[in-house]
This record gives sequence, structure tokens and C-alpha cells, in this order.
Amino acid sequence: MRILISGASVAGPVLAYWLHRYGFRPTVVERAPALRKTGGHAVDLFRPSMGIVEQMGLLKHVQAKDTGAQRVTLLREGAKAIRVDTARVLGVTPGRHVEIMRDDLSEIFYDATRHDVEYAFGDSIASIEDGEDEVKVTFERAEPRAFALVVGADGLHSNVRRLVFGEERQFTHFLGGYVSVATVPDHLGLSNEMISLAAPGRMMAMYSPRHLEEARATFMFHSPHRLDYHRHDTHRQKELLREHFAGLGSEAPRLLAELDGAPAFYFDEITQLRMETWSRGRVSLTGDAAYCPGPAVGASTSMAVIGAYVLAGELAAAGGDHTAAFRAYEREMADYVRGSRDYAARMVKQVIPGTQARIWAGAQIFRLLDVLPAGPARLLSKLADTTGLHDKVNVKRY
Ligand SMILES: Cc1cc2nc3c(=O)[nH]c(=O)nc-3n(C[C@H](O)[C@H](O)[C@H](O)COP(=O)(O)OP(=O)(O)OC[C@H]3O[C@@H](n4cnc5c(N)ncnc54)[C@H](O)[C@@H]3O)c2cc1C
Repeated sequence: MRILISGASVAGPVLAYWLHRYGFRPTVVERAPALRKTGGHAVDLFRPSMGIVEQMGLLKHVQAKDTGAQRVTLLREGAKAIRVDTARVLGVTPGRHVEIMRDDLSEIFYDATRHDVEYAFGDSIASIEDGEDEVKVTFERAEPRAFALVVGADGLHSNVRRLVFGEERQFTHFLGGYVSVATVPDHLGLSNEMISLAAPGRMMAMYSPRHLEEARATFMFHSPHRLDYHRHDTHRQKELLREHFAGLGSEAPRLLAELDGAPAFYFDEITQLRMETWSRGRVSLTGDAAYCPGPAVGASTSMAVIGAYVLAGELAAAGGDHTAAFRAYEREMADYVRGSRDYAARMVKQVIPGTQARIWAGAQIFRLLDVLPAGPARLLSKLADTTGLHDKVNVKRY
């Protein structure tokens, strides 16, 4: 059974891996001309997705590319910096969580599949015609082909979703903020530490994965309404950042000055996808394309891995009966997806504190996390809601 997957980042290659393992014949089409190697940001694999990575025999590869961010340092204007172990902040037991650059993770999944799976880089689906027995697909570059099924694993701004379900705006819910990531020189020599600085309505952080020379500057700010800019107008986006971060001290002026020379730059709304169903006929979606809880606030990489694994597992369990499999897949994911929406909406407020009082409260939690013994510290971080969402998930074995 031939299955076309759009997107070769996280969900796409994981889906391809499991489909191939179950005897399906996946093809992956990726718009980028090659695997992305510049830019990107750190992502997290939490407990249930680590189990899937382990079943794929890739745990050692993933752990070898851990960003090595062992500490978070909270900078505060006019107050002493507070340093805390990252594991304490996240409330995770060492060995049960990995922070890794998304591009490194994609490469690991790609390497594990490239000999068995057909990859077509530098192309994109142009049209999808869903028929009774097959889906006819045309591409921007390649010749038209027919597949038994098509899966969109092409991220928050999914092309497959637009082609099959319609315009994105009908499914997005604005969570009241913006996020930006820029590749910048590591002038602080931050090999194992992330620094973070918050002021009411805005937050800035900087980290450098241990195996990269450059650093990433992350900016997040609150906005009660959607801002007016074009998605591809990076000049305007940088202007917006400068406006919103004006007057913030510490490293902010230097990082804002680096924006113009940044070799990679990302800016987006923090929006959440809310689709009642993400399968139609012979087409389904997975990862951010289907159920993104919000970029940078939902730890959604774990959800991308789990969703891809479940979708492949259900297709195998149903012997390729896509109607039964898609229904079962969405049912299996429903609670997790619903939980992630609430979680992300809470996280936006935590990550971008709205008031000085919230910043002060966050600093007190950090201070306690630093001094408490491991058990109570884990409990406190759970109360502060860092990873509870993922801890509750039980992934079905196929
Ligand atoms: C700034 C930022 C910070 C984040 N921080 C974290 C974090 O700390 N922890 C965490 O767990 N998660 C984080 N995330 C979320 C994480 O990056 C995503 O959840 C994860 O990458 C989703 O994987 P995916 O494969 O579903 O989609 P994506 O990684 O978005 O990949 C989609 C793929 O589809 C391709 N594509 C797009 N359009 C087409 C097309 N027309 N045709 C073919 N291919 C196409 C893209 O090039 C890309 O390769 C963050 C996200 C952002 C933006």
C-alpha cells in the first residue's frame, strides 16, 4: 500500500519509519531542498515519546545530540541572577527527557529511514483528488502520481490541510502572543546554560547547544490582538521585535542589534489549532499539522512523535482499512490533544508573565527549586505544571 507523507521534519519521518516496519510503502515529499541544517530551535522529548524512540533503536543517537543545557539562569533587572538545574525546572528524572535541536532530531529520523523510504526533497503537493480507491496527487515539480493514502505532516501551516480542509484561519485560535528565534553569535560562551530575562509582557532567552558554535536568541511577547504584518516580511517582523523589546536591559540591546545579520530568523503567532477531526476520506494529518497546541508552549514534539506512531500502528492494526484506522487514531489521541490545548494556554501565561507580581512569583519558585531536595523539587515543578501533560499519557503498544 503506497502512502504519501508531506513533510520531513519530526512527524513525517517517524510515520514513514513505522509504516515501513509494518509493510506499507511510504514516500515523503519535503518542500525544503534538503534537510534543514541552519536555524531551528531546541525541542523536547518527554517520557512517552522517549519510549517510542527507544523502540526505534535510536535512543543513543538522540541522547548523543542532547543540547547539554544543564542550567537555566534567570536574569532580573536590579536583582541577583538565580541559577537552577534544567532537570529541576522541568521536573524530569535524568534519562527520561532529552532536549535536542529539532534539525538534529529530523536528521536522526531521516537517517533511520532513508534506505527504506523514498524521499523527494524540493517539491510540494499541488493538488489532491480524493477518489474511491486512490488519491490522485499532482506536485509542483514531479509528475502526478496515485497513492492509497496521503498524510500531511507538514507543520502548523500545513499545505495538505489547506488543500483538503480549507484555509488555516478557520482552525487557528490566537493564544495572545508572538514567538521569534534568531541565530546569533554566542558572545557569552553559553555551552551548558540558558539565560532568560522577563519583564511584564515580554520574555527573552538565549542558549547555545554544546555542539554548535552559534547561539539562539528567543523572544516572546504578549499581544492582546493579532498584529498586522505579512508572514514573509522579516523586515517588519524584526521591527516589531525592536518595538516590543525597547528598553529591556541586560543582553536585550545586543541581541536586538544582531537581528539584521542573523543567518536564520523565525517569527510567528502563538496560535493553537482546533480541528474537530483531522481526517477526511483517504487523507489524514499528524503532528503540528493536525493538533499543534501552539509553537514553543505545548512541548509538541513529543506529540508529533506519538501521533505518528499511533497513526502507523492503527493502520497496521486495521490491516490498511483507513476509515477504521483514522477513527481509532483520532480516538487514541483525543485526550492528549485536548489536554495539550489547556496546557499550552496556561504555559503562554507562565512563559510570558503579564505582571511584575507574576515575575516575582516565578523567581520564588526558581529559588525553591534550587534549594529543595530532589523529590520535593520534582513535586513543586509538577505543581508549577511543567511536564504534567506528558506524564499522564499512556501510549498504546502495537
Ligand atoms: C520557536 C519554536 C520553539 C519551539 N520549542 C519547542 C520546545 O521547546 N519543545 C518542543 O517539544 N517543541 C517545541 N516547538 C514545537 C516543535 O518544533 C514542533 O512541535 C515539531 O517540530 C512538530 O513537528 P512536525 O514534524 O509536526 O512539524 P514541523 O517540525 O513544523 O515540520 C513540518 C515539515 O513540513 C515541511 N513542509 C512545510 N510545507 C510543506 C509543503 N508544502 N510540502 C512539503 N513539505 C512541507 C517543512 O519544511 C518541515 O520540514 C517549538 C516550535 C517553535 C516554532
